Amino acid sequence: MQGLMQDWPLLIHRVIDYAATQHGNREVVSRSVEGPIHRTNYKAIHQRSKNVAQRLKQDGIVLGDRIATLAWNTWRHLEAWYGITGVGAIYHTINPRLFADQIVWIVNHAQDRIMLTDLTFVPLLESMADRLSSIERYVILTDGAHMPPTKLKNAIAYEDWIANCNGQFAWEQFDEKTAAGLCYTSGTTGNPKGVLYSHRSNVLHSMSLAHADALGIRNSSVVLPVVPLFHANSWSLAFSCPMMGAKMVMPGAKLDGASLHELMESEGVTMAAGVPTVWLGLLAFLQKEKKQLSTTKYMLVGGSACPRALIETFEKDYGLTVVHAWGMTEMSPIGSLGAVKDHLTSLDSEGLIDLKAKQGYAPFGVEMKITNDAGEPLPWDGKTFGRLKVAGFAVTKGYFGLDDAILDEEGFFDTGDVSTIDANGYMQITDRSKDVIKSGGEWISSIELENLAIGHPDVAEAAVIGIAHSKWSERPLLIVVPKEGRTINPAQILSFMEGKIAKWWMPDDVQTIAEIPHTATGKINKLKLREIFANYKLPTDA
Ligand code: AMP
Repeated sequence: MQGLMQDWPLLIHRVIDYAATQHGNREVVSRSVEGPIHRTNYKAIHQRSKNVAQRLKQDGIVLGDRIATLAWNTWRHLEAWYGITGVGAIYHTINPRLFADQIVWIVNHAQDRIMLTDLTFVPLLESMADRLSSIERYVILTDGAHMPPTKLKNAIAYEDWIANCNGQFAWEQFDEKTAAGLCYTSGTTGNPKGVLYSHRSNVLHSMSLAHADALGIRNSSVVLPVVPLFHANSWSLAFSCPMMGAKMVMPGAKLDGASLHELMESEGVTMAAGVPTVWLGLLAFLQKEKKQLSTTKYMLVGGSACPRALIETFEKDYGLTVVHAWGMTEMSPIGSLGAVKDHLTSLDSEGLIDLKAKQGYAPFGVEMKITNDAGEPLPWDGKTFGRLKVAGFAVTKGYFGLDDAILDEEGFFDTGDVSTIDANGYMQITDRSKDVIKSGGEWISSIELENLAIGHPDVAEAAVIGIAHSKWSERPLLIVVPKEGRTINPAQILSFMEGKIAKWWMPDDVQTIAEIPHTATGKINKLKLREIFANYKLPTDA
């Protein structure tokens, strides 16, 4: 027997309909790419997203067409997403930090028809436009007054593009499993792969994460998504915030510590989300300028491992609750978050920081397991590492345009991460499976060594890679960036680490570097580091 409840498809435009109806006056504030602070609200965003939909329809865009966005977090980017999905087209976010050839490959693979972009990226697109054959028109996210002279095909300022639309547009209706968003993983080997979100997966994902123990968003929240819309769905914030009617503060192109601090203070930001590199930048600014965060209470850190010292400093010196989250593009993206379960709140302060340094537990909608190479399940004892596999309503089951079967026989997706899970359900990433250091047949976690090294007062950033060793197969090399005005004494760093990890995990050497290379999504670029240290030989290797 079936239930007698209504069919109410989980479509993305229902989110902005809701926000406009219930929270219409709630603000969306952006640092515009042109410079000034721009203020709007959900009612206006709703209206203008309808204009976008109307215009797309006039331009002949139909269900399933891909519309590229190469843009910062601003109100225009946000309303474009809702407009695009409202006609059943697919927003395809592109990370501007990718190499030009990767962007070209991705746009051609996706066969994007229209490109929406910011002023910042006009020169970049001009340099590759002759290779972007599927793009019929470039819409520059600005107004006529700021429109630069450009030869980009059919280029038009966004405000002019939607100027003649009156928003008298009824959203298209379609199945909730219809594709809504496309995001390519940066892919360290081979070509990038497209992850195709559906309306249903995005709505469920955002709904399941907006609550207090996850993103911590309420109507009274003022949320700063430093995480870009082009980084895996902006960790759901573009949907979760309107769902709750939270005020959004969009940082535009300025993501340095001083600019973020200014925005956080002037707009009364209560919650902010971003990758560790961004928060290291903010922290350096706060410490140098002796500033505080007067309204921010909650910080979400994810995208790569958050150093324990960063959590500790923001919690103890700045009074924040720091939540460490893990996920991936293929998971929409959030797979776990580190809120403290009730029975663990009595841990002492060190124990609590240790717990928060883990990547947290899975929210409703994500199932996890760890297995050995044969696919057999491993125990949740907090010690045994294995391949981390996941299943859920917002986890991918395939890649765009590829037929490969990617799930195991139980329907789980192999994340490519290696982790432990403890008896309380807290998962801890020990490595990417290809970064783990294999020493004498045992595994050493590069992430754990990095986290430890960064706690040393002279170290600004740390990375560990495996270096070939004639006896042990691989041994860890610690690479560090000194803090401004400090010099690195390798022996001191090693003695600081001693006793905190197993003896055989101790790095065989410490090397100093001016800057650690990062990938387009802010992760330590270990491929590049391996290239830099390709001819390096460990002093321990006879
Ligand atoms: P992306 O799809 O670009 O977001 O990359 C996903 C990958 O980033 C994951 O598979 C992890 O290897 C890594 N990652 C994301 N969040 C974390 C985290 N909190 N700690 C460690 N690694 C992370």
